[in-house]
Amino acid sequence: MTASSFVPDIVGIDLGTTNSLVAYWHDGAPHLIPNALGQTLTPSVVSLDDDGSVLVGLAARERLQSHPQRTIASFKRGMGTATSFRLGDRVFRAEDLSALVLRALRADVRARFGQDVDRAVITVPAYFSDAQRAATRNAGLIAGFAEVSLLNEPTAAALAYGLNERDDSQFLVFDFGGGTFDVSILELFSGVMEVRATAGDNQLGGDDVDACVERWVMDSAGLPAELMGEPVFVSKLRARCEAAKRALSSDPTARISFQHGPHLIDLTLGIDQFERLIQPVLDRLRYPVETAIRDARIGTADLSAVVLAGGSSRLPAVRQLVTRMFGQFPSASLNPDEVIALGAAVQAGLKTDAVELAERVMTDVCPYTLGIESSKQVSADRHTAGFMSPIIARNTVVPVSRVQSFQPLTADQRVISVRVYQGEARLVKDNIPLGQFDVDLPRSTDGRWPHIDVRFTYDVDGLLEVEATPKLGEQAAGPSRRLVIQNSAERLSDEQVAERLQALSSLKMHPRERMEVRALLARAERLFMQLALDERERLGHEITRFELDLESQDPRRIAQGQAGLQRLVQLCEADSPLGV
Ligand code: ADP
Ligand code: MG
Repeated sequence: MTASSFVPDIVGIDLGTTNSLVAYWHDGAPHLIPNALGQTLTPSVVSLDDDGSVLVGLAARERLQSHPQRTIASFKRGMGTATSFRLGDRVFRAEDLSALVLRALRADVRARFGQDVDRAVITVPAYFSDAQRAATRNAGLIAGFAEVSLLNEPTAAALAYGLNERDDSQFLVFDFGGGTFDVSILELFSGVMEVRATAGDNQLGGDDVDACVERWVMDSAGLPAELMGEPVFVSKLRARCEAAKRALSSDPTARISFQHGPHLIDLTLGIDQFERLIQPVLDRLRYPVETAIRDARIGTADLSAVVLAGGSSRLPAVRQLVTRMFGQFPSASLNPDEVIALGAAVQAGLKTDAVELAERVMTDVCPYTLGIESSKQVSADRHTAGFMSPIIARNTVVPVSRVQSFQPLTADQRVISVRVYQGEARLVKDNIPLGQFDVDLPRSTDGRWPHIDVRFTYDVDGLLEVEATPKLGEQAAGPSRRLVIQNSAERLSDEQVAERLQALSSLKMHPRERMEVRALLARAERLFMQLALDERERLGHEITRFELDLESQDPRRIAQGQAGLQRLVQLCEADSPLGV
């Protein structure tokens, strides 16, 4: 088979909160597939264009501020919930929006190989619940993949670094992305890669770093707080602060310079001051690391590698923090915002039995503590109900089965209510109820108290089975009661998938071959809104001219117009304080 005719059986996809990527395995290495703009990162943003077609990626991200009613980002947070997102006059669930992103990636795959690839490995955060996993799988099916398997993001990062080739070892994956921070501890033992512990902060990411810089700009330039209510201003400020942050990952200073109405902002931010500004964010990175280390019952000296993932781990301050925390340099030879997609491609290779890769078994943990409500004796004659009695601890390797005994409050109690909860809080009212049932207790004949044995069995598909058996001494004394708890979002049936596919296919996707032009126009329109009124004329003129070029359908004229508009847009963006 020649390289040009190669088509992979499976692709690997990092479906991120901020950015998504797709990759495949070939010739002993993972390879990323570029999108229509030639970029490997596709922003996970969906927008409804003025003609009703769906835009995904950079063009959509450009419309976040200018068309907030028709554009949605960060919907991964809503996966597996009933939350609905409004896009124009239509309403979508997070899994539909994810399906649209996956569909755009699928089109990139088709463009790369000249045909569809029908199987996908999609990565999910290790702490994703069953409902969130089911929603991700459904999104893949709705996007048209015939077979979808899921892979934990930290496991993908470890695979990208070839950590599965090592001897028994433990390593930590530090994934600091756009809106979330995840820490996972993995263990490789006899060829089995296991997620030992996960912790994180799903409200901590690069966005928070940007916000520190934004606040500093507002203060330093003495800008009125009301400006933060103006979308056009916020958009300018965000873009400038994010660009400055990125610049500071390689340069000692960054300039933030733009004009908004009567306000002229022209500031220079040095790396030292930047690092002081973001100290509160850096401080917050510690807690999840400590939790994960504690849950995995290891010391930092036991870690044989620390792997960085997520675009925000490019910040030098983050790398220094990691080096200090673990007393070793992190593995950072791969691009941190690509490692998860690369690892998904390695897994795709494993699944197709690529000769270069030895098969590995992956196992998983139960991400939450599971238990039942119990009472406690608070004084000689008083019991208080409402306490959480854990039966399966968070981060226990699954499948797992655990049993625990519970006594009634009084010797003559005839019924015990088994109320099942998930969560880490001390009191059940602060945890999530999963279900309940009653068990009849036998009457004791010999003065011994009856009790019940409650067995929790949690399998790899995330099914929890609760079984309660009434007992007198060691003997079962009555019928067992069982309850099977499956999380709310169940797998879709084939018919349901077909139905949802149908519903989404009434939406037409913006033609891929015109994405570059569309992204340029969206960027020009955003800039236009951001320029002061007296600076808009030239750009407005160029946009109109380019639209006429497009109407002419003359490829040479279009190419020329595109190059011209591109130059002007770059000029406007660079030429501060005229730029954004
Ligand atoms: P996610 O996993 O949430 O989809 P990514 O891993 O793609 O996110 O990370 C996106 C974040 O990384 C954004 O906040 C972006 O600003 C940040 N980022 C990207 N490059 C750099 C850089 N060079 N320095 C600092 N932050 C960066
Ligand atoms: Mg990510």
